[in-house]
Amino acid sequence: MHELAQSFKGHFFVVVTSIMLWRLARKNNLDLERASDIDSVTGLHSPSVFMRHVDTLLASQDQQTSYVLVIVDIDGFTSLTNKLGFERTNHLLSDMAHAIEVSTLFDKVTSRVHADRFACLVELDSASDMALYIDRLHRECNRHLQRYEQQATCSIGVALFGPDGDSAARLMTAATRALNDAKKRKGAVTYHDAHLTEQAQKRRQLVSALRVAINNKEIEVVFQPQYRLASGELTGLEVLARWTHETYGVVPPSIFIPLAEEQGFCEDLTALVLEKAAKRLHDNDLLGSVIQRVSVNISAVEFNSESAIRRIDDYLQLNPKFARYLCLEITETAALDDILECARVVDILKRHGVTFSIDDFGVGYTSLGMFNRINVDEIKIDRSFIQSMESDSRTKAITAGIIDIAKRLEINVVAEGVETATQLALLKSFDCEYAQGYYLGYPASLSDLKVAMSV
Ligand code: C2E
Ligand code: CA
Ligand code: CA
Repeated sequence: MHELAQSFKGHFFVVVTSIMLWRLARKNNLDLERASDIDSVTGLHSPSVFMRHVDTLLASQDQQTSYVLVIVDIDGFTSLTNKLGFERTNHLLSDMAHAIEVSTLFDKVTSRVHADRFACLVELDSASDMALYIDRLHRECNRHLQRYEQQATCSIGVALFGPDGDSAARLMTAATRALNDAKKRKGAVTYHDAHLTEQAQKRRQLVSALRVAINNKEIEVVFQPQYRLASGELTGLEVLARWTHETYGVVPPSIFIPLAEEQGFCEDLTALVLEKAAKRLHDNDLLGSVIQRVSVNISAVEFNSESAIRRIDDYLQLNPKFARYLCLEITETAALDDILECARVVDILKRHGVTFSIDDFGVGYTSLGMFNRINVDEIKIDRSFIQSMESDSRTKAITAGIIDIAKRLEINVVAEGVETATQLALLKSFDCEYAQGYYLGYPASLSDLKVAMSV
């Protein structure tokens, strides 16, 4: 009996120990597996997990989403590693991973697929977002790299889901081929589709041309008249930027203003527009006599940037006479970003006597409640209202309503984009105070305007 018990104990011990050993081994394996799923230097997915993930995403994609696979590769990585040493190189790689991860709010999967090579599958809303996103990613990656080595750059290869491949493997092949092309030029971005590369290159050339045009003060200004409707007298001018490039010809503001915004050129552009407008008005001796108000457009990007606001503040301090006639136009969306911060900036700048106008009023998201918070002097009803007022009775009612509320709040109303006599008559019947538009006067140089006004 005793022997049987002993043997049972022995067997029991062996079984328990085996189970424990088996569990330990399994845990180690799982840990190992998990560890190899994640790159220890950057915290990104391992290449195999990445490929699996990409395939799953691509298989479940719907018609609305468009995916783009981007490969980022550091130029001259070996010599860079030699210079930086092991530890700093790891920091650099981790910074690059971070730059890629935060480069957009779009959904994405990222991996370090090779020593200095990152792959990222991004889900975009539309193809038009792509160039903007890739540009920003390239700039951000270069900025991080250059914190370690001034001359360092990275190259980017891009492939689109669909035209360039329909699986993770095919997209990787296409993007790698594009990257190899980009690496020949170093610091370049190449799309697998040559047509897209060409478009991106043109865009970059336009960006450098814009930088040069701003630096060389080649951006000109024109002035569009604003009239008081009751008396028909000219009361103000809106300053509009114009750019004519020697090879590209006339580049419309709808192209170069968004470029300036996205490249951070707006501060310099505004400084130039203010300088030119002030000089032209001074040379023509119009300020204070005929012209009581000069409106200048300020970009949303600037309004949310402390340094840009400080620069405008400094300008106003140095030009107190001009400041008194100046009206700064900000678009509704700009104001919305952070309404309290916006109100603070308005109050700061108002100390110089400038007034504020909310541009394109009605098409943004601002509610009328905004007027309680921000001390604005004027709204400009967006031209889409003015233009559909004649044919659409609802728009007509809304326009009349906006004018009425603004008046009760003692806020000036400007109707913009007035193109016909009927629109003008309607606005007069609504008691709208000011208007501008092609029917009343096109944007023009001051000398042309002076002839038209016979001043
Ligand atoms: P915005 O501030 O709404 O300026 C009015 C735009 O409408 C101008 O276009 C003007 O030429 C056009 N316009 C005037 N009257 C009429 C009309 O009766 N009918 C129609 N269809 N259009 C009319 P522009 O000069 O092409 O400027 C487009 C936008 O570019 C401006 O829209 C403004 O947001 C921006 N922009 C222009 N100059 C500057 C600038 O110096 N700085 C900044 N930040 N933005 C600017
Ligand atoms: Ca405007
Ligand atoms: Ca407008």
